[in-house]
Amino acid sequence: MCNKYLILWALCLIGCAGPHQEVYDVALINGRVINLETGALEPKDVYIKANRIAKVNDRDQAGAAHAKETVDLNGKYILPGFWDNHVHFRGGDSLIGENKEFLNLFLANGITSVRDAGGDLTPAVLQWKDEIENKQLQGPTIFTSGPKLDGKNPTWAGSLEIETPADIPKALDSLQAIPTDFVKLYESTLTGENYLHIIRATEQRGLITSGHMPFTVTLAETVEAGIDGIEHLYYVMKGCAANEAEITAKMKAKELGFWEAMPLLLSAYDDSVAQSTFKRLKDHRVFVVPTLHIGETLSYLDEVDHTHDPYLNYMGPGIRKTYQGRINGAMRASQEQRRDRKQLQRFFGQLAKSLHSAEVALMAGSDSGAYNSYTYPGISLHKELEAMVTAGIPPLDALRTSAPNGALFLEKDADYGYVKENKIADLVILNGNPLERITETKNIHMVVKEGVVHNKMKLDAQLKSH
Ligand SMILES: [Zn+2]
Repeated sequence: MCNKYLILWALCLIGCAGPHQEVYDVALINGRVINLETGALEPKDVYIKANRIAKVNDRDQAGAAHAKETVDLNGKYILPGFWDNHVHFRGGDSLIGENKEFLNLFLANGITSVRDAGGDLTPAVLQWKDEIENKQLQGPTIFTSGPKLDGKNPTWAGSLEIETPADIPKALDSLQAIPTDFVKLYESTLTGENYLHIIRATEQRGLITSGHMPFTVTLAETVEAGIDGIEHLYYVMKGCAANEAEITAKMKAKELGFWEAMPLLLSAYDDSVAQSTFKRLKDHRVFVVPTLHIGETLSYLDEVDHTHDPYLNYMGPGIRKTYQGRINGAMRASQEQRRDRKQLQRFFGQLAKSLHSAEVALMAGSDSGAYNSYTYPGISLHKELEAMVTAGIPPLDALRTSAPNGALFLEKDADYGYVKENKIADLVILNGNPLERITETKNIHMVVKEGVVHNKMKLDAQLKSH
């Protein structure tokens, strides 16, 4: 070092903050970090610089660092911001505005990342994702599959249609050109053969894939082909039934329908088959998204009156209109079908618990969005965590299914998942301890998104009611 620089350096030691006096943008002092790896409550001060956690100090080191803005958390609980690992933005271009309002609902509920599992608003979703990244728009980080892959004339608008294996590279090229964060498979008209071909092709390209599963293939075939995530528990249940091969053959021969197969599979649940299926899922590191809360909501649409739900006020008239389809379906169902659905739902709670006991990685996802009646963006993620705990999953493990597992699934764990140095500063500050009562996840004091502190009352005030 030449003399000139030595002098400058010496002057800086005297006059500037110096190496041990770095000035951070935000200091969150006197909080208790819930360590999601160990379950410990750790008195810490969290220092943020730009959009990252720069330092996590023990409380007794207080005063060692300075920040432009200091917030005294007074013993409140610090968690990584929640991830909702299954949402939808959809409903056609006329609902773009009402879908966009979900962004504030997510943030007001402490959700700092969402995994969009496919819809028909991809250009708008990509635009929001960009604007949020550039801080031109307030909302959670969006990870998206873009359009779903399905067969000819699929149920959901906007899906890419795979009729022959030749359609697969074109579809995957188009997703990679965007690029999307994962590939979402749907099974309304997709053939079993094409389904397995797609999974193998995504494996070859190194893409992350999750989806439903046509009942014309087995769960073992799907896992062996290389799927990374299973959305909903119908498909896991199929893989736990002693009669899976027989049901699969009947589905191929079109002798059975999806919902007709359900009670047959349920009654053939076999614990030894289930345990080997769980082991296969675990060994192949397949994540499962149980979506218990929406299952509960939809199973009881015939009995529960939702017209006075407080969250209904946050849904625009267009979104509310999309709820009618499933309501009509529930009302048309026979007594037997209604009973079967409720029985299935009770079983899914047990299945989620069994998967967890067998160490299969779960992800908390709400499936909120248009058409999914009364499953409201934001609050429904908290309901999902509550449903997991009700099913017997310990609160700490339920919390792990949100940010840590969501980040791990999308291979974003270098940046997200824990309150640690160098991670993105996405945090939620709770007034109560969710390890004691999972409902405390809703008791939000403050949300930090990429280092920007959002007061909960201000977030609530920004919500648009209809
Ligand atoms: Zn969904």
